[in-house]
Amino acid sequence: QAKLQQSFYVEYQQGLDEQHMRRLQIIESLKDAVKDEELHLVLQPKINCQSGTVVGAEVLLRWQSEKLGFVGPDEFIPLAEQSGAITDLTDWVCRQSVELLRNWEQQGKTLKLSINLSTVDLLSDALPLLFEQLIKGFPQLPQRLVLEVTESAVMQDPEKAIARLETLKRLGFSISIDDYGTGHSSLAQLRRLPVEELKVDRAFVQYLSEEAMDESIVRSTIQLAHELGLRVVAEGVEDEASWKVLQSLQCDELQGYYFSKPLAISDFKNYLTEHELK
Ligand code: C2E
Ligand code: CA
Ligand code: CA
Ligand code: CA
Repeated sequence: QAKLQQSFYVEYQQGLDEQHMRRLQIIESLKDAVKDEELHLVLQPKINCQSGTVVGAEVLLRWQSEKLGFVGPDEFIPLAEQSGAITDLTDWVCRQSVELLRNWEQQGKTLKLSINLSTVDLLSDALPLLFEQLIKGFPQLPQRLVLEVTESAVMQDPEKAIARLETLKRLGFSISIDDYGTGHSSLAQLRRLPVEELKVDRAFVQYLSEEAMDESIVRSTIQLAHELGLRVVAEGVEDEASWKVLQSLQCDELQGYYFSKPLAISDFKNYLTEHELK
Protein backbone atom coordinates (compact mmCIF):
# COMPACT_ATOMS: atom_id res chain seq x y z
CA GLN A 1 0.00 0.00 0.00
CA ALA A 2 2.71 2.41 1.07
CA LYS A 3 4.71 1.57 -2.01
CA LEU A 4 1.72 2.16 -4.23
CA GLN A 5 1.13 5.51 -2.60
CA GLN A 6 4.72 6.41 -3.07
CA SER A 7 4.64 5.58 -6.76
CA PHE A 8 1.51 7.70 -7.16
CA TYR A 9 3.32 10.47 -5.40
CA VAL A 10 6.34 10.14 -7.67
CA GLU A 11 4.11 10.22 -10.73
CA TYR A 12 2.21 13.19 -9.38
CA GLN A 13 5.43 14.99 -8.57
CA GLN A 14 6.83 14.21 -12.02
CA GLY A 15 3.65 15.58 -13.57
CA LEU A 16 4.03 18.79 -11.61
CA ASP A 17 7.68 19.08 -12.52
CA GLU A 18 6.85 18.60 -16.19
CA GLN A 19 4.13 21.25 -16.04
CA HIS A 20 6.49 23.57 -14.25
CA MET A 21 9.23 22.95 -16.82
CA ARG A 22 6.88 23.64 -19.69
CA ARG A 23 5.74 26.89 -18.13
CA LEU A 24 9.31 28.01 -17.68
CA GLN A 25 10.14 27.03 -21.27
CA ILE A 26 7.16 28.97 -22.58
CA ILE A 27 8.05 32.07 -20.56
CA GLU A 28 11.66 31.83 -21.73
CA SER A 29 10.79 31.35 -25.42
CA LEU A 30 8.12 34.05 -25.38
CA LYS A 31 10.74 36.68 -24.61
CA ASP A 32 12.07 36.49 -28.16
CA ALA A 33 8.87 35.52 -29.98
CA VAL A 34 8.37 38.97 -31.51
CA LYS A 35 12.01 39.44 -32.46
CA ASP A 36 12.24 35.91 -33.92
CA GLU A 37 9.05 36.52 -35.96
CA GLU A 38 7.29 33.51 -34.47
CA LEU A 39 3.93 35.23 -34.12
CA HIS A 40 1.18 35.70 -36.62
CA LEU A 41 -2.36 36.94 -36.58
CA VAL A 42 -5.52 35.18 -37.62
CA LEU A 43 -8.78 37.00 -38.28
CA GLN A 44 -12.23 35.70 -37.44
CA PRO A 45 -14.94 37.45 -39.49
CA LYS A 46 -17.54 39.49 -37.61
CA ILE A 47 -20.91 39.38 -39.30
CA ASN A 48 -23.88 41.74 -39.32
CA CYS A 49 -26.63 39.61 -37.79
CA GLN A 50 -29.51 40.79 -39.99
CA SER A 51 -27.76 41.02 -43.38
CA GLY A 52 -25.07 38.34 -42.96
CA THR A 53 -22.41 40.66 -44.43
CA VAL A 54 -18.87 41.03 -43.04
CA VAL A 55 -18.32 44.10 -40.85
CA GLY A 56 -14.80 43.30 -39.68
CA ALA A 57 -12.88 40.73 -37.70
CA GLU A 58 -11.50 39.78 -34.32
CA VAL A 59 -7.72 39.64 -34.25
CA LEU A 60 -6.39 36.49 -32.56
CA LEU A 61 -2.76 35.76 -31.84
CA ARG A 62 -0.96 32.59 -32.94
CA TRP A 63 2.49 31.44 -31.86
CA GLN A 64 4.55 28.89 -33.75
CA SER A 65 7.57 28.50 -31.52
CA GLU A 66 10.78 27.21 -33.00
CA LYS A 67 11.49 25.29 -29.79
CA LEU A 68 8.04 24.25 -28.59
CA GLY A 69 6.03 23.98 -31.78
CA PHE A 70 2.52 25.40 -31.87
CA VAL A 71 1.36 26.79 -28.52
CA GLY A 72 -2.26 27.94 -28.19
CA PRO A 73 -3.20 31.38 -26.82
CA ASP A 74 -5.14 29.85 -23.93
CA GLU A 75 -1.81 28.44 -22.75
CA PHE A 76 0.67 31.24 -23.53
CA ILE A 77 -1.41 34.39 -22.91
CA PRO A 78 -1.80 33.82 -19.14
CA LEU A 79 1.95 33.11 -18.87
CA ALA A 80 2.74 36.21 -20.93
CA GLU A 81 0.64 38.19 -18.47
CA GLN A 82 2.56 36.74 -15.52
CA SER A 83 5.98 37.35 -17.04
CA GLY A 84 5.18 40.78 -18.46
CA ALA A 85 5.87 39.65 -22.04
CA ILE A 86 2.25 40.50 -22.88
CA THR A 87 3.16 44.18 -23.25
CA ASP A 88 5.39 43.40 -26.24
CA LEU A 89 2.84 41.01 -27.71
CA THR A 90 0.02 43.55 -27.47
CA ASP A 91 2.27 46.25 -28.92
CA TRP A 92 2.93 43.96 -31.89
CA VAL A 93 -0.77 43.07 -32.30
CA CYS A 94 -1.71 46.76 -32.30
CA ARG A 95 0.90 47.73 -34.89
CA GLN A 96 -0.03 44.84 -37.19
CA SER A 97 -3.71 45.72 -36.86
CA VAL A 98 -3.02 49.32 -37.84
CA GLU A 99 -1.20 48.12 -40.97
CA LEU A 100 -4.16 45.94 -41.94
CA LEU A 101 -6.63 48.77 -41.38
CA ARG A 102 -4.47 51.19 -43.33
CA ASN A 103 -4.27 48.80 -46.30
CA TRP A 104 -8.03 48.27 -46.35
CA GLU A 105 -8.61 52.00 -46.05
CA GLN A 106 -6.45 52.56 -49.14
CA GLN A 107 -8.61 50.03 -51.00
CA GLY A 108 -11.73 51.88 -49.90
CA LYS A 109 -12.78 49.15 -47.47
CA THR A 110 -14.18 50.31 -44.15
CA LEU A 111 -13.75 47.38 -41.82
CA LYS A 112 -13.42 47.23 -38.04
CA LEU A 113 -10.93 45.14 -36.11
CA SER A 114 -11.33 43.99 -32.51
CA ILE A 115 -8.28 43.24 -30.39
CA ASN A 116 -8.03 41.58 -26.98
CA LEU A 117 -6.51 43.43 -24.04
CA SER A 118 -5.37 41.71 -20.85
CA THR A 119 -5.40 43.13 -17.33
CA VAL A 120 -1.73 44.00 -17.61
CA ASP A 121 -2.36 45.96 -20.83
CA LEU A 122 -5.26 47.74 -19.26
CA LEU A 123 -3.28 48.87 -16.23
CA SER A 124 0.04 49.65 -17.94
CA ASP A 125 0.92 53.15 -19.09
CA ALA A 126 2.36 51.81 -22.34
CA LEU A 127 -1.02 51.43 -23.99
CA PRO A 128 -2.34 55.03 -24.11
CA LEU A 129 1.12 56.19 -25.21
CA LEU A 130 1.21 53.60 -27.98
CA PHE A 131 -2.28 54.55 -29.17
CA GLU A 132 -1.48 58.26 -29.19
CA GLN A 133 1.53 57.49 -31.36
CA LEU A 134 -0.43 55.19 -33.70
CA ILE A 135 -3.26 57.73 -34.07
CA LYS A 136 -0.76 60.30 -35.35
CA GLY A 137 0.03 58.02 -38.28
CA PHE A 138 -3.56 56.84 -38.77
CA PRO A 139 -6.16 59.26 -37.39
CA GLN A 140 -9.12 56.97 -38.20
CA LEU A 141 -7.76 54.31 -35.81
CA PRO A 142 -10.14 54.87 -32.86
CA GLN A 143 -13.17 54.54 -35.15
CA ARG A 144 -11.84 51.27 -36.58
CA LEU A 145 -10.37 49.49 -33.58
CA VAL A 146 -12.59 47.92 -30.91
CA LEU A 147 -10.88 47.05 -27.62
CA GLU A 148 -12.10 43.84 -25.98
CA VAL A 149 -11.62 43.48 -22.24
CA THR A 150 -13.03 40.84 -19.94
CA GLU A 151 -14.97 41.68 -16.86
CA SER A 152 -12.39 39.86 -14.70
CA ALA A 153 -9.62 42.02 -16.19
CA VAL A 154 -11.53 45.11 -15.13
CA MET A 155 -12.40 43.76 -11.68
CA GLN A 156 -8.77 43.14 -10.64
CA ASP A 157 -8.35 46.86 -10.02
CA PRO A 158 -11.69 48.42 -10.95
CA GLU A 159 -10.84 52.01 -10.11
CA LYS A 160 -7.68 52.13 -12.17
CA ALA A 161 -9.17 50.07 -14.98
CA ILE A 162 -12.23 52.30 -15.26
CA ALA A 163 -10.06 55.43 -15.29
CA ARG A 164 -7.99 53.86 -18.07
CA LEU A 165 -11.07 52.88 -20.06
CA GLU A 166 -12.29 56.48 -19.76
CA THR A 167 -8.96 57.66 -21.19
CA LEU A 168 -9.22 55.23 -24.09
CA LYS A 169 -12.79 56.31 -24.70
CA ARG A 170 -11.71 59.95 -24.77
CA LEU A 171 -9.20 59.00 -27.47
CA GLY A 172 -12.23 57.77 -29.42
CA PHE A 173 -11.95 54.00 -29.02
CA SER A 174 -14.94 51.82 -28.32
CA ILE A 175 -14.69 49.23 -25.60
CA SER A 176 -16.28 45.80 -25.64
CA ILE A 177 -16.94 43.51 -22.67
CA ASP A 178 -15.73 40.05 -23.74
CA ASP A 179 -17.02 36.70 -22.42
CA TYR A 180 -20.10 38.41 -20.96
CA GLY A 181 -22.06 36.18 -18.60
CA THR A 182 -19.15 34.09 -17.32
CA GLY A 183 -18.23 36.52 -14.53
CA HIS A 184 -20.12 37.69 -11.50
CA SER A 185 -21.11 41.21 -12.51
CA SER A 186 -24.60 42.11 -13.54
CA LEU A 187 -25.35 44.32 -16.48
CA ALA A 188 -26.53 46.89 -13.96
CA GLN A 189 -22.97 47.04 -12.57
CA LEU A 190 -21.33 46.94 -15.96
CA ARG A 191 -23.31 49.90 -17.22
CA ARG A 192 -21.05 52.09 -15.07
CA LEU A 193 -18.21 51.13 -17.37
CA PRO A 194 -17.59 53.27 -20.47
CA VAL A 195 -18.42 50.42 -22.84
CA GLU A 196 -20.30 50.34 -26.12
CA GLU A 197 -20.42 46.63 -26.87
CA LEU A 198 -21.22 43.42 -25.07
CA LYS A 199 -19.99 40.05 -26.33
CA VAL A 200 -22.21 37.28 -25.07
CA ASP A 201 -20.01 34.31 -24.18
CA ARG A 202 -20.19 31.30 -26.42
CA ALA A 203 -21.34 29.14 -23.49
CA PHE A 204 -24.80 30.75 -23.93
CA VAL A 205 -24.72 30.78 -27.72
CA GLN A 206 -23.43 27.34 -28.62
CA TYR A 207 -26.63 25.41 -27.82
CA LEU A 208 -29.00 28.29 -28.41
CA SER A 209 -31.17 26.42 -30.89
CA GLU A 210 -31.66 23.48 -28.47
CA GLU A 211 -31.76 24.99 -24.99
CA ALA A 212 -34.82 27.07 -24.09
CA MET A 213 -33.02 28.36 -20.99
CA ASP A 214 -30.12 29.71 -23.05
CA GLU A 215 -32.58 31.48 -25.33
CA SER A 216 -34.20 33.19 -22.34
CA ILE A 217 -30.83 34.31 -21.01
CA VAL A 218 -29.69 35.66 -24.35
CA ARG A 219 -33.05 37.33 -25.02
CA SER A 220 -33.08 39.22 -21.73
CA THR A 221 -29.38 40.13 -22.08
CA ILE A 222 -29.94 41.61 -25.54
CA GLN A 223 -33.04 43.50 -24.40
CA LEU A 224 -31.36 45.05 -21.40
CA ALA A 225 -28.14 45.80 -23.31
CA HIS A 226 -30.13 47.60 -25.99
CA GLU A 227 -32.00 49.61 -23.38
CA LEU A 228 -28.60 50.67 -22.05
CA GLY A 229 -27.53 51.64 -25.58
CA LEU A 230 -25.03 48.82 -26.06
CA ARG A 231 -24.35 46.84 -29.23
CA VAL A 232 -24.53 43.08 -28.73
CA VAL A 233 -22.21 40.55 -30.35
CA ALA A 234 -22.82 36.81 -30.01
CA GLU A 235 -19.72 34.61 -30.22
CA GLY A 236 -19.58 30.90 -30.90
CA VAL A 237 -22.40 30.71 -33.46
CA GLU A 238 -21.98 27.19 -34.80
CA ASP A 239 -25.16 26.50 -36.77
CA GLU A 240 -27.75 28.21 -38.90
CA ALA A 241 -30.55 27.59 -36.40
CA SER A 242 -28.69 29.64 -33.76
CA TRP A 243 -28.22 32.45 -36.29
CA LYS A 244 -31.97 32.49 -36.95
CA VAL A 245 -32.72 32.66 -33.22
CA LEU A 246 -30.23 35.52 -32.81
CA GLN A 247 -31.83 37.33 -35.75
CA SER A 248 -35.23 37.07 -34.12
CA LEU A 249 -33.72 38.40 -30.87
CA GLN A 250 -32.30 41.45 -32.73
CA CYS A 251 -28.68 40.66 -31.95
CA ASP A 252 -26.33 43.08 -33.74
CA GLU A 253 -23.22 41.13 -34.74
CA LEU A 254 -22.06 37.51 -34.82
CA GLN A 255 -18.93 35.43 -34.81
CA GLY A 256 -18.56 31.71 -34.97
CA TYR A 257 -17.51 28.61 -36.84
CA TYR A 258 -20.81 28.59 -38.76
CA PHE A 259 -19.58 31.67 -40.63
CA SER A 260 -15.86 31.03 -40.41
CA LYS A 261 -13.02 29.86 -38.21
CA PRO A 262 -10.24 32.37 -37.58
CA LEU A 263 -8.46 32.77 -40.93
CA ALA A 264 -4.92 33.53 -42.07
CA ILE A 265 -4.81 37.08 -43.44
CA SER A 266 -4.71 35.98 -47.09
CA ASP A 267 -7.70 33.65 -46.52
CA PHE A 268 -9.61 36.48 -44.86
CA LYS A 269 -9.05 38.56 -47.99
CA ASN A 270 -10.56 35.74 -50.07
CA TYR A 271 -13.46 35.42 -47.64
CA LEU A 272 -14.13 39.14 -48.05
CA THR A 273 -14.15 38.91 -51.84
CA GLU A 274 -16.44 35.89 -51.84
CA HIS A 275 -18.88 37.51 -49.47
CA GLU A 276 -18.89 40.80 -51.34
CA LEU A 277 -20.12 38.99 -54.43
CA LYS A 278 -23.21 37.66 -52.70
P1 C2E B 1 -11.66 34.99 -26.89
O1 C2E B 1 -11.22 36.42 -26.92
O2 C2E B 1 -12.94 34.68 -26.20
O3 C2E B 1 -11.66 34.53 -28.41
C1 C2E B 1 -12.61 33.65 -28.96
C2 C2E B 1 -12.08 32.24 -29.03
O4 C2E B 1 -13.15 31.38 -29.44
C3 C2E B 1 -10.97 32.05 -30.08
O5 C2E B 1 -10.09 31.05 -29.58
C4 C2E B 1 -11.76 31.53 -31.29
O6 C2E B 1 -10.98 30.79 -32.18
C5 C2E B 1 -12.80 30.67 -30.62
N1 C2E B 1 -14.03 30.52 -31.41
C6 C2E B 1 -14.51 31.35 -32.35
N2 C2E B 1 -15.67 30.89 -32.86
C7 C2E B 1 -15.93 29.73 -32.23
C8 C2E B 1 -17.02 28.77 -32.33
O7 C2E B 1 -17.96 28.90 -33.11
N3 C2E B 1 -16.94 27.69 -31.50
C9 C2E B 1 -15.92 27.50 -30.63
N4 C2E B 1 -15.91 26.41 -29.87
N5 C2E B 1 -14.88 28.40 -30.52
C10 C2E B 1 -14.90 29.49 -31.30
P2 C2E B 1 -8.51 31.25 -29.60
O8 C2E B 1 -8.07 31.95 -30.85
O9 C2E B 1 -7.89 29.93 -29.29
O10 C2E B 1 -8.24 32.26 -28.41
C11 C2E B 1 -8.48 31.87 -27.08
C12 C2E B 1 -8.35 33.04 -26.15
O11 C2E B 1 -6.99 33.51 -26.09
C13 C2E B 1 -9.17 34.25 -26.57
O12 C2E B 1 -10.52 34.08 -26.18
C14 C2E B 1 -8.46 35.35 -25.81
O13 C2E B 1 -8.88 35.39 -24.47
C15 C2E B 1 -7.01 34.89 -25.86
N6 C2E B 1 -6.32 35.60 -26.96
C16 C2E B 1 -6.17 35.28 -28.26
N7 C2E B 1 -5.45 36.21 -28.92
C17 C2E B 1 -5.14 37.17 -28.01
C18 C2E B 1 -4.40 38.42 -28.05
O14 C2E B 1 -3.90 38.88 -29.09
N8 C2E B 1 -4.29 39.10 -26.85
C19 C2E B 1 -4.84 38.65 -25.69
N9 C2E B 1 -4.70 39.40 -24.58
N10 C2E B 1 -5.55 37.51 -25.64
C20 C2E B 1 -5.70 36.78 -26.76
CA1 CA C 1 -12.17 38.26 -27.52
CA1 CA D 1 -14.85 35.82 -25.91
CA1 CA E 1 -12.13 33.80 -23.55
